[in-house]
Parts: sequence; C-alpha cells; structure tokens
Amino acid sequence: MRLPKFEYLSPATIEEAFSILLEYGENARVLAGGTDLLVKMKHRALIPLPEYVVNIKKIPGLNFISYDEEEGLRIGALATMQEIKSLLPIRQNFPGLAQAAGLLSTPQIRNMATIGGNLCNASPAAETAPALITSAATAKIVGQSGERTVAVEDLFTGPGETVIQQGELLAEIQVPNPPPNSTGVYLKHGKRLSDIAIVGVAVSMTMDDGVCTDAKIALASAGPTPMRVRRAEELIKGQKVSQELIEEVAKIASEESKPIDDLRAYADYRKEKVVVLVREAIKQGLQQIRLGGS
Ligand SMILES: Cc1cc2nc3c(=O)[nH]c(=O)nc-3n(C[C@H](O)[C@H](O)[C@H](O)COP(=O)(O)OP(=O)(O)OC[C@H]3O[C@@H](n4cnc5c(N)ncnc54)[C@H](O)[C@@H]3O)c2cc1C
Repeated sequence: MRLPKFEYLSPATIEEAFSILLEYGENARVLAGGTDLLVKMKHRALIPLPEYVVNIKKIPGLNFISYDEEEGLRIGALATMQEIKSLLPIRQNFPGLAQAAGLLSTPQIRNMATIGGNLCNASPAAETAPALITSAATAKIVGQSGERTVAVEDLFTGPGETVIQQGELLAEIQVPNPPPNSTGVYLKHGKRLSDIAIVGVAVSMTMDDGVCTDAKIALASAGPTPMRVRRAEELIKGQKVSQELIEEVAKIASEESKPIDDLRAYADYRKEKVVVLVREAIKQGLQQIRLGGS
C-alpha cells in the first residue's frame, strides 16, 4: 500500500511549527518518528488525510533526557523508546517506565518511536501511558499563546483523542522523583511481547514497614483510554500487604477495567489477564523493594 500524496514541511523553529500548524489546521499532522502516523496514512485511517506533514525533528530543544535528584526526570517529546529503555537513571529510579519503553515492539521500531508520539497517538494500548500515570508524570504542552501543564492521566479524552489543540505541540514529560521505598513495575500481555498489548498493567507503590503507604495502578488496552483503577488503589493503601489482599486488589482492578472485544482478544479474556498482571506486578514491586530498588 502506497502513502498518499502530501507536502512535507520541516520547520527549524518551534514558532515556525506553530504558525504552519495553525495555518493548515486539521489538514496538517505532526511527524515525529512516524511509526504511527505513516502507517495510518498508508491505510487511509485518518480523516481527513493530511495534506501537510510537519516534521518536528529539526526543532531544537525537543530531544533530550535529563535527570536530577531534586528535580526528577524530564524527557523531551522526541526522546525515543530505545533511549528511555536504556538510560541508567531511568532504569534505576523509574523502572516501570524503562520496562514499558523496552516492551514497545522491536529495536527497529523503538529507535524511531518517540515518547511524544506514543502519548499523542493516544491509543488505549499506548505502552508508556500507564507507567507515566502511576509515576504522577505531567506533560508540557506548548503553543503560540504560551505553555500549560497537564497530568498525563488527564491527557486522553478517547481513543486517538487528547486535550492537545490544533497548533499545539507536546514538548516534554516531567516525572517527579518517587519517595524512598517506592517501586514501579510495568507488565504486558501480548500474543508476542513485541505486539501491541492485549493488556498492560503498571503499578507503583511506596512501602513503610510492610504497609503500603501509597499506590497507583493503571491499565492499558482495558478501556477507551489508558486508565487508573482507583478502587483497587484505595484497597491496598494503608494496609499490610498480604497474599489475600493482593488477590482482592487484582480482582477489583479487573472489575473496574472496561475492555472491549476486538481482533486481538475478547473483553472477558482481557479482564482475566488484568487479574493475573495486577497480582504479578504487585508481587514484583514488593520484591523490588525487598532487593533495595528505588
Ligand atoms: C510494527 C509496530 C509495532 C508497534 N508496537 C507498539 C507497541 O507494542 N506498543 C505501543 O504503545 N505502540 C506500538 N506501536 C506504535 C508506535 O510505534 C508508538 O505509538 C510510537 O511511540 C509512536 O511514536 P512516533 O514518534 O513514531 O509517532 P508519530 O507516528 O510520528 O506520531 C504519532 C501521532 O502523534 C502526533 N505527534 C507526535 N509527536 C507529537 C508532538 N510532540 N506533539 C503533538 N503531536 C505529536 C502525530 O501527529 C501523530 O498523530 C507500534 C508501531 C508499529 C509500526
């Protein structure tokens, strides 16, 4: 299948990008790694099909990763999955995010796929979204009228839809440092691990003497957007974590999930996998803390 005809634009500054995007409106699309955009264009899966494709890779200041013990982690929108997966400060301090980036497809795709593209594509299966949500990450969105910060949790409004407006760009993701004795885990179930997730689960927990003082649990491919399961979180917070409690939390998370039947799996199957993955992610998280993780 061939790409449809389009005009390729490559602004050198962010201001130039804003004015192009505002001028052409819904006829223009941002191009980062292209691993979602170009595939959708080939399959004529975008309405309208973009007449203008706006490469943002020449814009300075969007491709970086920085880590600071006080400030936490900042990731430019153009950072790739391979970079996020590999960087030691991310592996050490945000292991769930490193796992999620490392589970996105193959090295060839990971070398192209950006974190900005993964979030802006807004697939319910977006690999990095649950790990960022459970890490309380925020997204910096920029446009001609200035910048605003949105919790990654509030970025998605529906499948393929975000709060990012025409003429705006996602510029960076900020992730605060987790408190001591915290953990982050991301697990994925797919037909093959390199496939889009049938279900993805991220868990972050903070423990104090066997008691879970804070917990966030988020799911991918289990609803119209990546989603938190708050009843399950509330159940584990403030409690000593026993095997029975883990089972109950996993069951409630599955009850809260809202998966659909599609080509890859039935909703019932996904609900069963939520139980399995939430249970396993909590156990792996506890193990990480015992072994002296983040
Ligand atoms: C074979 C294959 C396997 C894949 N497997 C997975 C998988 O396992 N898990 C998974 O989550 N994804 C998977 N994907 C999807 C894709 O690789 C990821 O979503 C990737 O992170 C998208 O990033 P990109 O830079 O390529 O985005 P692009 O394709 O360049 O852009 C995606 C969308 O986001 C918009 N956009 C991009 N950057 C910005 C920005 N900074 N500001 C505003 N809008 C922006 C674009 O206009 C477009 O609508 C797969 C894709 C392929 C082809």
